[in-house]
Amino acid sequence: MSPSKTVFDVALDTLNEAGRLGQINPRALKVLQTPKRINSFCIPLKLDNGDFEVFQAYRVHYCDAMGPFRDGTRIRPELTLDEIKALGIFMTVKHCVADIPAGGAKGGIRADLRTLTARDQESLIRAFVRNLTPKGPWVDVPGADIGTGEQAMSWMLDEYEQTTGTHCPAAINDKPAILGGSLGGKAATGRGVFLVLQAAAQDMGLELNQAPAAVQGFGQVGAELASHLYQTGCRVVAVSDVYGGIYDPKGLDIPALKDHVRSTGSVADFPGTEAMTNDQVLEAEVDILVPAAVHDVVHAGNAGKVRAKLIVEGANGPLTTEADQILTDKQVTVVPDVVANSGGATVCHFERSQGLSDEYWDLDRVNATLRTRIIAAYTQSRDRAREANTPSLRFGAWIHALKKLERAMLLRGWI
Ligand code: NAD
Repeated sequence: MSPSKTVFDVALDTLNEAGRLGQINPRALKVLQTPKRINSFCIPLKLDNGDFEVFQAYRVHYCDAMGPFRDGTRIRPELTLDEIKALGIFMTVKHCVADIPAGGAKGGIRADLRTLTARDQESLIRAFVRNLTPKGPWVDVPGADIGTGEQAMSWMLDEYEQTTGTHCPAAINDKPAILGGSLGGKAATGRGVFLVLQAAAQDMGLELNQAPAAVQGFGQVGAELASHLYQTGCRVVAVSDVYGGIYDPKGLDIPALKDHVRSTGSVADFPGTEAMTNDQVLEAEVDILVPAAVHDVVHAGNAGKVRAKLIVEGANGPLTTEADQILTDKQVTVVPDVVANSGGATVCHFERSQGLSDEYWDLDRVNATLRTRIIAAYTQSRDRAREANTPSLRFGAWIHALKKLERAMLLRGWI
């Protein structure tokens, strides 16, 4: 990414290029240049240790042409409004691609959770929910993201229910099952990444059995995906996390690696493996690469050294625009984030539906419905790319989403 471009600028570049390739109504593109609503607020808090802090928070309602606003809440010390706006447009597109009748939103609090006690964190989360206006199952449904998990979402649900005097599990996503969350939610993104990886490999004629693969990031997404690759007979030869990487050309024993990570906190020093840097993992001699950690890891400086034939974006935005172009020119198949990691958003959709109907699904139903929907998202994005005569599945996916948004805006009389 060029230094002057922010992550939101890059999102708009993708939007506008997809709009051009897909011949999208310029008025629809104009609506999408900026969020519908930005709620920017501060949260004053008396901390457990006697200190006093004021935390900056945001909730961006990007576009609700397709349905109520929905999606995550991120807490990290470096949080910016620009990042939340970019994630808001990504969610708008991701929901459309996955055929979920929801708009795109994102929220966040600029805070360093390591410096806060559990009680401080609870106070912060509850204050965040009180400040969300408007909210509710038909308006805006927050979910989890970096820095928020089942506990944070339980506090959010309780605060919402206490302040509205209702029981409304459909108002908050990513809750534990006992409070109305969906089964299969935690595994959904990694499972979805694997399902689209299988579909893309099949389109390329790439045999997965014994195919060498590398996975960057061994958290909720990367570890789940690696388990599926292992079960299907792939040789996962390289894996990394924030502390570094490991390599074994014979293929890693993923269940044993998961045990190792549970006991040591990292993939590093897994017995029988060679140490590798994160860059070496990205450049490993593999057919398949899944970046499932952080954004911008493949860039103009290393894209030429990537040897994989298939890249599936588990993380949000792991390839810069320049890297995407270099890899497309090298005829590498890249399955973009808005398709590949949409499994979590899809199961959040099931979660809200279950909350609204008070009828809860078993795991088989969740997984089977996820499979049908994410494969359809992949296939339709691929077909849109072919129609627009572009080799880029990313543009195919965005065109697919923009066609729906354009139609919804026309029917609503917005444009
Ligand atoms: P996680 O926190 O569970 O795991 C992240 C993993 O990446 C860890 O192994 C961590 O050590 C590693 N990591 C962090 N920084 C790194 C770095 N600089 N270099 C190499 N490795 C690094 O997170 P997750 O839920 O697995 O999410 C991973 C990515 O997928 C994120 O980009 C997230 O936005 C995206 N994503 C997640 C979901 C979901 O449902 N969890 C849904 C959509 C997208």
